[in-house]
Amino acid sequence: MPDLPIASDFSLASLNTFGIAARARRYLRVTEVPQLAAALADPDLAALPRLVLGGGSNLLFTRDFDGLVLHMALSGREIAGEEDGCTLVRAAAGENWHDFVQWTLAQGLGGLENLSLIPGTVGAAPIQNIGAYGAEIKDLFHALTVFDTASGQTRTLRAADCRFGYRDSVFKHAEGAGLIVLDVTFALPTAWQPNVKYAELANELAGIAAPSPRQVADAVIAIRRRKLPDPAVIGNAGSFFKNPVVPGAQCERLLQAFPNLVHHRQPDGSEKLAAGWLIDQCGWKGRNMGAAGVYPKQALVLVNNGGATGDDVVRLARAIQADVLARYGVQLEAEPVFV
Ligand SMILES: Cc1cc2nc3c(=O)[nH]c(=O)nc-3n(C[C@H](O)[C@H](O)[C@H](O)COP(=O)(O)OP(=O)(O)OC[C@H]3O[C@@H](n4cnc5c(N)ncnc54)[C@H](O)[C@@H]3O)c2cc1C
Repeated sequence: MPDLPIASDFSLASLNTFGIAARARRYLRVTEVPQLAAALADPDLAALPRLVLGGGSNLLFTRDFDGLVLHMALSGREIAGEEDGCTLVRAAAGENWHDFVQWTLAQGLGGLENLSLIPGTVGAAPIQNIGAYGAEIKDLFHALTVFDTASGQTRTLRAADCRFGYRDSVFKHAEGAGLIVLDVTFALPTAWQPNVKYAELANELAGIAAPSPRQVADAVIAIRRRKLPDPAVIGNAGSFFKNPVVPGAQCERLLQAFPNLVHHRQPDGSEKLAAGWLIDQCGWKGRNMGAAGVYPKQALVLVNNGGATGDDVVRLARAIQADVLARYGVQLEAEPVFV
C-alpha cells in the first residue's frame, strides 16, 4: 500500500486563486496514482465527500469543505509518438498548464500556443474544455486517462467520450462526476498553421507575415498580461461568467433596442453575446460590494480586493446577474465551480 500522508483541518487559502480562506476536513496531496485506490479502500476516507483540486483557478469556496480534498500533483510529460501527421504529447494531471504549453513550444511543436498563460493544471484543462483566443483544447485533444472512483479502475477516454462543448464536458455532469483525470494526450499537427482569426490577436501580430508558434504565444501572453489581473497579486478566477448563447431571434430583438450589442453568430444560427459587455453596460466595471469587486479593466473578472469571503463574491455575482437579466433578459451563468 502506498503512503497516505493525510492532513486534517487543512488551509486551502493558498490553493485557490481567489485567495478565499477555506479549510478542508481531510487533505491528500496525490503524487502517485495508487494513492487514489488506497484512499478509496480506507472506509473512513471513502465515506467522505470528495473534491478533486488542481490549481484552484476555477473554483469559488463558499464554505469550508467538510470532506476529502484530493490535490492532484502527478507529474511528468513526454512525447508519446506520431499518428496521422501529428505528434502526440502527454502530460500528467498535476503539471502546470502554461509550463506544459511552453515545453511543447520548446520541443518545436505548435498547436497549443493560443492557450498560453491560462492558469491551472493539465488535468483540469478538459473539465471545462479551456479556451482562449479562438482555440479550445478539444481541437487538439487526443485522449485522456481517468481513474474511475466507482470501479477503482483506470481507463482511456477519447474525444467523443468527453462530450466537449463550450466550457463544458462530461466531467461537469453526473456521468463524469466520479472520474479523476490522471493524464491528457494532445495531437499537435506536424503541418502547423497559425490560428489568428481572433481580431485582437491578429492586431497584436500585425507586421509579422508568417508568425511562428513562439511569436503567437508571446502575443497571447502580452495581451493577457495587459488585460487580466495576476492572481498572485489580486485574487480572481478569470472570467466569472460564461458568454451567454441565445437564439438568433432573441439577438435580433435585442439589437433593435441595443444596436451596439456585441454578438457572434454560431454555426447553428444561435448567437454568443459578450458577457463582459453586458456587465459593463449595466455599470458594474470597477464597482465593489464589500471586499469583492469587478476588475476595472475587464468587467468579466470578479476580484477579491482583500479578505473577501466566498459569500461576498456570490452576493456580487447575484447582483450582477439580476441587473443583466432585468436590462437584457439574459441569464448569466457562472463559470467557476462553487464549492
Ligand atoms: C487569471 C485567470 C485567467 C483564466 N483564463 C482562462 C481562459 O482564458 N480560458 C479558460 O478556459 N479558463 C480560464 N481560467 C480558468 C482556469 O484557469 C481553468 O478553468 C483551468 O483549467 C482550471 O484549472 P485548475 O487546475 O486550477 O482547476 P481547479 O480550479 O482546481 O478545478 C476546476 C474543476 O476541475 C476539477 N478538476 C481539477 N483537476 C481535476 C482532475 N485531475 N480530474 C477531474 N477533475 C478535476 C475540479 O474538481 C473542479 O471542478 C482562468 C483563470 C484565471 C485565474
